[in-house]
Amino acid sequence: MTPGPLADGFGREHRDLRISLTDRCSLRCTYCMPAEGVPWLPGPSMLGTDELVRIARVGVGLGLSEIRLTGGEPLLRPDVVDVVARLAALDGPNGRPEISMTTNALRLPALASPLREAGLARVNVSLDTLDRDRFARLTRRDRLPATLAGIAAAAAAGFAPVKLNAVVMRGVNDDEVVDLVRFAVAHGYEMRFIEQMPLDPGHTWDRGEMVTQAEILERLGKAFRLTEVGDRGAAPAERWVVDDGPATVGVIASVTAPFCGSCDRLRLTADGQLRSCLFARTETDLRTLLREGADDAALEAAFRTCVAGKKAGHGIGEPGFRQPDRPMSAIGG
Ligand code: SAM
Repeated sequence: MTPGPLADGFGREHRDLRISLTDRCSLRCTYCMPAEGVPWLPGPSMLGTDELVRIARVGVGLGLSEIRLTGGEPLLRPDVVDVVARLAALDGPNGRPEISMTTNALRLPALASPLREAGLARVNVSLDTLDRDRFARLTRRDRLPATLAGIAAAAAAGFAPVKLNAVVMRGVNDDEVVDLVRFAVAHGYEMRFIEQMPLDPGHTWDRGEMVTQAEILERLGKAFRLTEVGDRGAAPAERWVVDDGPATVGVIASVTAPFCGSCDRLRLTADGQLRSCLFARTETDLRTLLREGADDAALEAAFRTCVAGKKAGHGIGEPGFRQPDRPMSAIGG
């Protein structure tokens, strides 16, 4: 085994693993999935919980210190509370991993408290609009009240601050950025806006049409006094204090201000493929290794090979860029 941190050829030390617990989802957001859904991964190809925890244990042993659970919709995994408890109990050279989750919140009224007790530290919820009709069009499900109930349940269970994520889309919800911040500030949540990335099912993404960080800040700047918060480390969001604070707003400008230079993230798909980037064209097949009886040293070597192959940047906008073959729901956002 090569000792030392999980570093790539550009000196980036990897600390963060995003695990997709399932590719299934209870919503059909237009920018993520087609109306009819996508062909789901076949059951036997999905990692079982022992397999998933073993991969995470090896990663934590290599210095990973943050695990974010995502999907699809992670709360659709029937044993999600058990998964959290088992991941939170792992230990490695950088201590126990911090476990967080990105969710649509629909199952949080039932699960927020058990998840917190199991060791979940932080919750991010996708909320693209506060308008019920718009929400129904955008997600193809009339579930805004249920989403808001889930967000409130997360706060009531003690998650603080609950972060809210909105993908900003021209002519869809770009007129709502100020209202979303007002809503978040009023409830003690933290609002974060995401530049739309070329991951849509129809491959219709157009950089010229995309709502940029600069536009988002221009709109917000007319309603609030924004003061930049300094060093963001490896975090994807750049943040600003809203008026006199303490509320902040973040923008994840993956396209116009990519943060690949400080990226410390790896992704594990629900079917056991390790990816060094959302936009990677190659994957490392940990599932087959596991099922062929690989020992931990072989899994560690596979982690290192994946990290060693990481490119300098995601390449969006560069000649020859192609969207990943898998949809976002199958990679894990
Ligand atoms: N179902 C969960 C949820 O709704 O948050 C987790 C999975 S979802 C794929 C994770 C995040 O990816 C969400 O915040 C979503 O808005 C974001 N996302 C999906 N497609 C995107 C795209 N094309 N560009 C930017 N963000 C996207």
